[in-house]
Amino acid sequence: MSAADWLEQGLPHIWLPYTQMQTTPPPLPVASTKGSRITLADGRELIDGIASWWTACHGYNHPHIAQAVRGQLDKMPHVMFGGLAHEPALTLARRLAALLPDPLERVFFCDSGSVAVEVAMKMSVQFWLNQGFTGRTKFLSFRGGYHGDTFACMSVCDPEEGMHSLFAGALAKQIIADLPVDEASEAAFDRLLAAHAEELAAIVVEPLAQGAGGMIFHGAEVLQKLRRAADRHGILLIFDEVFTGFGRTGTMFACESAGVVPDIVALSKALTGGTMGLAATIASRKIFEGFLSDDPLHALMHGPTFMANPLACAAANASLDLFEQEPRLAQAAAISEALKLGLAPCRDFPRVKDVRVLGAIGVVELDRIDDMNGLKRRFVEAGVWVRPFRNIVYLTPALTIGEGELKCLTDAVVAVVGERARGS
Ligand SMILES: *Cc1c(COP(=O)(O)O)cnc(C)c1O
Repeated sequence: MSAADWLEQGLPHIWLPYTQMQTTPPPLPVASTKGSRITLADGRELIDGIASWWTACHGYNHPHIAQAVRGQLDKMPHVMFGGLAHEPALTLARRLAALLPDPLERVFFCDSGSVAVEVAMKMSVQFWLNQGFTGRTKFLSFRGGYHGDTFACMSVCDPEEGMHSLFAGALAKQIIADLPVDEASEAAFDRLLAAHAEELAAIVVEPLAQGAGGMIFHGAEVLQKLRRAADRHGILLIFDEVFTGFGRTGTMFACESAGVVPDIVALSKALTGGTMGLAATIASRKIFEGFLSDDPLHALMHGPTFMANPLACAAANASLDLFEQEPRLAQAAAISEALKLGLAPCRDFPRVKDVRVLGAIGVVELDRIDDMNGLKRRFVEAGVWVRPFRNIVYLTPALTIGEGELKCLTDAVVAVVGERARGS
């Protein structure tokens, strides 16, 4: 079947994510990927500026990951994780625990970032239930945050971006605060926390960089403040590092550079180097010990069918090998400098509100984007795969991207944003 055929025959049966299917042009058929390149069915090549939703940190088709998955496929593609164990998962758990700051040491595997956050939330509530606190069932989260698309996750997302009004009545009501970044927001945060402390299971935050909610950055001191506040009120602290994990903000995990240790951390996105779905919720010793008792109902009540899939764990182990063997964090630092230089010209454009860079994340914030489909088309015409959202154009390339390819990306952003800003 040609690409034209499978696209035409399949499209009437596919439902695309976050897509108004009546007005959005059809997706682009892809033939293959390699490194930072996406080859379309018609032969055109796009340089990928966003590493497939921030997952492909080593670029596409890294041979080391491919080889690990192939080897695992021959041995055992999958086996259930209840009552049975396998080397890829136990090795991965040990390695993740070693990479994360002490006392984060217990790894629960699942399939997606949303479910990893759900598990972190469930873990928090059940932790308190197990200690006899029945009233600690709510969460405090932040404006600008994004934690996934399932119902519990939606309830802790930014109220507008998370579509709280759209789903009003179906979502649990949580406490949503502004991140305490200045005196006014700190005072408001302290008041909210004091008013709701007794009913809170945990505070949920994306450390250092809020991703899908708007690519908004904050400093380590904000997280240190959250840690102190959580401790003062005896509330748990959850870091959602689904976006920030694995080098994106410049260190392996954002919690490292922030110098703050959460009680629970959620990882996914780049965990398998962008090859397949896998996620992990990692808890501290204290949280884990809160589930130890003679009572079977005190066990963590969660168990996805495909949890710890051996193929995905083999991919993740191979991805961690690459972080050990290749200079990923140095590459992230070089990307950071290139993004700062390359995107700087956007500062002078009339409709640009802000240009900011953190680690391997480069952001151009506009006052607004009117013709989103047109803007996306312009980027494809410019030979790059960049997916602006809301009023944000951003780059989160593979950490392995070549210098020349990165320059093509920043040049394309400057050119396309420039022509928009001038109203052409
Ligand atoms: C993408 C993302 C999620 C959701 O992950 P899925 O794999 O899409 O379910 C949760 N939290 C953050 C910070 C994310 O960036």
